[in-house]
Amino acid sequence: MGPWHPGYPCVSTGGGPLYFFNSLLGRMVMPLTGRIPVAVLGATGSVGQRMLALLDGHPWFRLGSVTASERSAGRVYGEVARWVLPTPIPEEVAGMEVRATGPALEERLLFSALDASVAGSVETEYAERGHVVVSNARNHRMDPDVPLLVPEVNPDHLDLVARQSFGGGAIITNPNCSTIGMVLALAPLHQAFGVERVNVVTLQAISGAGIPGVAGLQIVDNVVPFISGEEEKLETEPLKILGELADGLVAPAPLTVSAQCNRVPVVDGHTLCISVELGRAVSAEAIIDAWDSFRGEPTALGLPSAPSRPVVYVDEPDQPQPRMHRDLGNGMAVAVGRLRPCALLDWKFVTTSHNTVRGAAGGALLCAELAVARRAVEGLRDFKGGSL
Ligand code: NAP
Repeated sequence: MGPWHPGYPCVSTGGGPLYFFNSLLGRMVMPLTGRIPVAVLGATGSVGQRMLALLDGHPWFRLGSVTASERSAGRVYGEVARWVLPTPIPEEVAGMEVRATGPALEERLLFSALDASVAGSVETEYAERGHVVVSNARNHRMDPDVPLLVPEVNPDHLDLVARQSFGGGAIITNPNCSTIGMVLALAPLHQAFGVERVNVVTLQAISGAGIPGVAGLQIVDNVVPFISGEEEKLETEPLKILGELADGLVAPAPLTVSAQCNRVPVVDGHTLCISVELGRAVSAEAIIDAWDSFRGEPTALGLPSAPSRPVVYVDEPDQPQPRMHRDLGNGMAVAVGRLRPCALLDWKFVTTSHNTVRGAAGGALLCAELAVARRAVEGLRDFKGGSL
């Protein structure tokens, strides 16, 4: 066996990837000989906190810096962050100084969990300085040369990075938190039968509104039937993600989505009630089989954050539910259930997925892992300050 080559899956003489058992993750992952230094922009927010928790002990990435707004910059993370996760602040992060967002950073790979009001220009500036930005923010998602990536669904869209003109830097984006859950359920159906029309009603958790988020008096004992900009994202992002890459651009998938979004008093986990019209008549068994057999490139490559099964069908009549299913596959899988005929379209079903793990921080990690494994960006490991 030859040495691990940075950026490539380690390939055995038999041609398949070699794996080792990672005790932190409790499963087999691809090996690396060192960890890539990374920074988290917007590290004090709802997604930023989840990023830090997931980076703690990550086998490929090592946290170097955290940034936030001027309100937090220059202060100690553990004192300034309003930590909301049930697990403690990772030890190495608690004592870190929060840096300002914008000035130079040593780490080349940046995870952005910035508020959308600032993410657009900040991410562009860092990419122009040679950084690779993997973003959770909406600002660059629909740019024609920016991948809007769900690694199991459209890994080839990473090729768009080669069209970017940031002079060595790059921007890769992660979809909206509800879009990800929906697209993971739609992709197997789209690949097997074609999806033509979709109607979706969302029940979205309050952690999706950031920190401090929705006021208690608004959300306890209540449902808020409006989330600014959310319906537009659900109606446009799936078309790009499910679109075909041709001549260096994504041709949007020819499907129509109608969305209604609601905020509900659940802490984590978005639930979606979805109806679909398919390209041809199929049985319930064929649909469930398409979900159950769906895997994708991250699982085949053994990427550290890849769930072994991205889509899991649950058979109980009153499931999926956020409290029971948001942590499926370490929060990286989507639970699907209640498949039944629809009187308006063909079939209807319910999905639940974790909005800050699969729908944000974990999804961004998986995008970065795929970019490393596919060597989508030149010299990701050779940036000043890198440890490899
Ligand atoms: P959040 O809790 O409001 O956190 C926003 C972060 O941005 C904080 O670290 C904040 O720092 C920083 N920030 C705000 N204004 C800034 C400025 N002018 N300069 C520099 N930093 C600034 O929001 P979030 O829910 O984590 O969401 C982060 C991003 O991910 C957003 O773009 C959001 O749309 C997207 N997203 C969120 C979810 C979700 O489930 N929450 C899912 C998918 C995508 P301070 O603490 O110092 O103010």
